[in-house]
Amino acid sequence: MRATTTDGREIDLNQNVFDGLRLRLRGPLLLPGDVGYEESRTVWNAMIDRRPVAVARCLGNADVIACVQFARENDILLCIKGGGHNIAGLATADGALMLDMSLMRGVWVDPRRKVAHAQAGCLLGDVDRETQVHGLAAVLGFISLTGITGLTLGGGFGYLTRRWGWTSDTVDGMSIVTADARLVRASGEENPDLFWGLRGGGGNFGVVTGIDYRLFPVGPEVLGGLVAWPASEAPKVLDLYRTLAETAPPELTLVALMRPAPPAPWLPRAMHGKPIVALLACHSGDPEAGQKAVASIKSFGAPIGDVLVRRPYAQMQSLLDATQPKGRRYYWKSEYLPRIEPALCVKAIEHAARIRSPYSAVILFQIGGALNQLKEEHSPVGNRDAHYVLNIAGSWEREDDDRANIEWAREAWNDMKRFSTGGTYINFLTEDEGPERVRAALGSGLIRLADVKAKWDPGNAFRTNRNIQPG
Ligand SMILES: Cc1cc2nc3c(=O)[nH]c(=O)nc-3n(C[C@H](O)[C@H](O)[C@H](O)COP(=O)(O)OP(=O)(O)OC[C@H]3O[C@@H](n4cnc5c(N)ncnc54)[C@H](O)[C@@H]3O)c2cc1C
Repeated sequence: MRATTTDGREIDLNQNVFDGLRLRLRGPLLLPGDVGYEESRTVWNAMIDRRPVAVARCLGNADVIACVQFARENDILLCIKGGGHNIAGLATADGALMLDMSLMRGVWVDPRRKVAHAQAGCLLGDVDRETQVHGLAAVLGFISLTGITGLTLGGGFGYLTRRWGWTSDTVDGMSIVTADARLVRASGEENPDLFWGLRGGGGNFGVVTGIDYRLFPVGPEVLGGLVAWPASEAPKVLDLYRTLAETAPPELTLVALMRPAPPAPWLPRAMHGKPIVALLACHSGDPEAGQKAVASIKSFGAPIGDVLVRRPYAQMQSLLDATQPKGRRYYWKSEYLPRIEPALCVKAIEHAARIRSPYSAVILFQIGGALNQLKEEHSPVGNRDAHYVLNIAGSWEREDDDRANIEWAREAWNDMKRFSTGGTYINFLTEDEGPERVRAALGSGLIRLADVKAKWDPGNAFRTNRNIQPG
């Protein structure tokens, strides 16, 4: 069997070697051809097509330790799959031993301490489901099928970010299997250097097996959803977005998006496929206060659809899931913005009008608030000057259409990147974005990250990620 070594060489390994690993695991070990191998090896973005030599579906810390030991003994490249949502396909690698964490999805909530311990294979929806039982929530992202670990290790933002910061700002601790196959805890008290690195430095330091999230009272109902207008209204709607977002309370998160209308039942059939502009809002505080906060959106012009209503928070957290299915082709370009300038809105409208697929979108996420109040060096996720995220999100179905859609995204980005803070979100970087984009994402934190890497993974065993070279 062809395997890849940590330094990228191809070697032949006898099947017996993997039979030996199977005996050391509680969870299944899948080889090419086994039922489940294809499901495990594929990731959300169909542009990525790689074949690990084997997939270990870990069932606990001991399985993770056994895999790290095995990889060391045989000098095999490791890759780690959480939710498999990373657009650059960082969860998978040709010839690697993949640790598929998707059987580790337990969540334990301590409502008194307002903390949830989540196993590393959880998807966002797993955590929301268990925490909402207690009227609590962790600061997570917008699509419930995303993996918690990849999101948290890169920063993480969603509807609650304006109130409590990056997801990684709200983590109390993590358990992690390190390069020498030890299970350690990283927190403010234990291994604080490692804890610092894990909150933005990605999967560079080991295999995270569990995360402790601080929880906040949210729901059970919030005021949230979308209002849409024809694209001809975009200049006025983006102007409303800009002015409303500037004064919105932290409970209110506003997202503007422009795209061809999806075939959603709340939009008139005649508009399906036609360009629209929409505002997505979530007020995570008292729903009555939320009604007032979004009144000017609901009464604006003549919307073609309005589903901005009181709804369960857990439902809000999965509202957009259907727009981002696994198995389409995706290519994004993103920047952090300090503010929404009128000139940026003009450009956003111009490039949205040139979208080449029914699924692509130009999106502006509002994130400013709590994250801006911490010091840059608080964690490597940094970017404490970011108030919005611009995401030029290309999405299409056929390989033949790759070029046209990638060109669209690149052109739009080239035209709009001048509005950036200079920073970008590490978790939104695509496969073709190299070291200079990682520098834009992690900034001055890279130097300290290299020191943490040198201490915890000097041999660079964990390199299937946005790799930090040991300092
Ligand atoms: C549809 C969609 C919506 C998104 N929405 C948001 C959003 O609202 N907010 C936001 O902040 N981000 C969002 N993202 C980006 C998301 O944060 C990243 O894609 C993130 O990498 C996903 O995590 P994952 O576990 O699914 O990733 P994977 O692809 O499984 O892994 C990504 C990286 O994390 C590492 N990793 C995963 N698990 C572990 C582990 N247990 N230990 C060590 N390293 C590990 C992997 O090695 C890999 O390098 C979205 C992405 C998609 C595709």
